[in-house]
Amino acid sequence: MTKAEGNLFLLSGPSGSGKDTVIGEVLRQLPELRFSISCITRPRRAESDDQKYRFVTAEEFKKGIREEAFLEYAEYCGNYYGTPAAPIDRWRRQGLDVLVECDTEGARQICRKKPEAISIFLMPPSFAVLHKRLTGRGTESNDQTARRLAAAVEEMKKAHRYQYVVVNDHLPDAVGQLIAILTAARCRFGANEEFINEVLQDAQSFHWEAHSGL
Ligand code: 5GP
Repeated sequence: MTKAEGNLFLLSGPSGSGKDTVIGEVLRQLPELRFSISCITRPRRAESDDQKYRFVTAEEFKKGIREEAFLEYAEYCGNYYGTPAAPIDRWRRQGLDVLVECDTEGARQICRKKPEAISIFLMPPSFAVLHKRLTGRGTESNDQTARRLAAAVEEMKKAHRYQYVVVNDHLPDAVGQLIAILTAARCRFGANEEFINEVLQDAQSFHWEAHSGL
């Protein structure tokens, strides 16, 4: 069966919406799905950061910009975040779906360059929960937390730009909804056209006359 080009999924959501947990669980349940590792200039916050980020210096990041190595990049709370383009193109050519996590600015850039991208916004269940998650982390100063809260509100104002919204209240529900979106994209006609044509080709070369008595 010929594989169509893989889908490109964008996931955004404010800091504190639980993106890392949701993404980790989705990747565990869908081992074929590829996750795009971002290059970032922010200092390491937790061990788990190593699974989703490549930490680079501002100089290295700027070199990447000059060489047009990023599909998108943005400045977020004083640090650079960027999505390397090459692995995404390679995976998609191999027929593998790719999940990119980025802020609303990054998503805007990607949707312009890749209009076929499927965009999903992850929402916290309430502002109170968002606030609690951001202050309860204990990894940032009050000032940084306030900046992240303000940035979160700005991000949520842009949720209308996305095709899908998933509310992360109960983790298994949010994961299930995200997987449903990814699965539905695989079932679209465009993703199956080549396969359907192959079946029809086989039908053409079938010896119908040998079965004329059926
Ligand atoms: P954090 O510092 O909390 O890990 O991430 C801060 C913000 O940057 C989050 O909204 C996250 O989704 C976003 N982000 C993560 N990777 C990328 C990326 O490659 N590009 C862009 N534009 N944003 C990213």
